[in-house]
Amino acid sequence: MITNVANVLHHLNANDKLSHAYLLVHQDRDRLVQEALEAVQVLVCEEVTKEGRACKVCGPCCAVQSGNHPAVNWLVPDGASLKIAQMRMAIKQDRRMNSFTNRTFLVLEQADTLTAEAANSILKWVEEPAQDRLFLLLARSPMAVLPTLRSRCTILLLSSKQLWEEDSRQERFDQVKKLVLELGSLLATKDPATWYFASDRMAKDGETEDYPLFGELLMAFCRDAVAIHYGVTTDVFEQNGDFETQARALSPQTWTRLAMLFSGLTKRLKAHVNAMSLLESFLLQAIDTIGM
Ligand SMILES: [Zn+2]
Repeated sequence: MITNVANVLHHLNANDKLSHAYLLVHQDRDRLVQEALEAVQVLVCEEVTKEGRACKVCGPCCAVQSGNHPAVNWLVPDGASLKIAQMRMAIKQDRRMNSFTNRTFLVLEQADTLTAEAANSILKWVEEPAQDRLFLLLARSPMAVLPTLRSRCTILLLSSKQLWEEDSRQERFDQVKKLVLELGSLLATKDPATWYFASDRMAKDGETEDYPLFGELLMAFCRDAVAIHYGVTTDVFEQNGDFETQARALSPQTWTRLAMLFSGLTKRLKAHVNAMSLLESFLLQAIDTIGM
């Protein structure tokens, strides 16, 4: 089930820690739309369930679903891109709306298609502090969004849980997960042995065909570490004492940076380049990222 973003935002909102702009990142556009829809619903819902999910039957939930909620402006590309004229119109509408609702919601589908001038036109709007407003930008890669805009958003990388649920090779899965736990622990403790992980551990216990899964699970490790910080349910790694200690050893920002780094690794592992030297070079970047 898709509950991740909604859960995170609901939790943050309940603790009065909701930020003003989130960049939701996942490869699958439909999945992003579903996540954003449910996230907006849970924030306007009149009957949130005890699991922190939108009821989907109250008036506000239905209005969001049908695209008729007055406080929600859902923007999709006009043709191939999100254009500056759309942004200007949205800003105008938002100013009107904002004066008579508690919070307005701006969802930008395919934010990676924002033209540079469109992205620049909303920079001030996105960070206008006095207004209660929530931006959800949906993109397939954080790197595809203009850095000035990206830096104003909190990045949420969505899980690909289904991907490994469909993986029937349970034994290999467990083996790869063990390797990821080892590496995760090295990263968390800034252990110099991180340097040798590729040649010492992967060369010995990893099989070439496992490398893409290794990359996916490594990202999952980073995401779950962030989940620990936010106090939400983890996806793959059990919330036991060890994992929690490792997760808390680095900041959520650092884990997010590492997840972004490893998402590049996964993509290239799938392209069957020389996996061992690739992993080595990414681990060097990871070491640099956490300042070992
Ligand atoms: Zn509801």
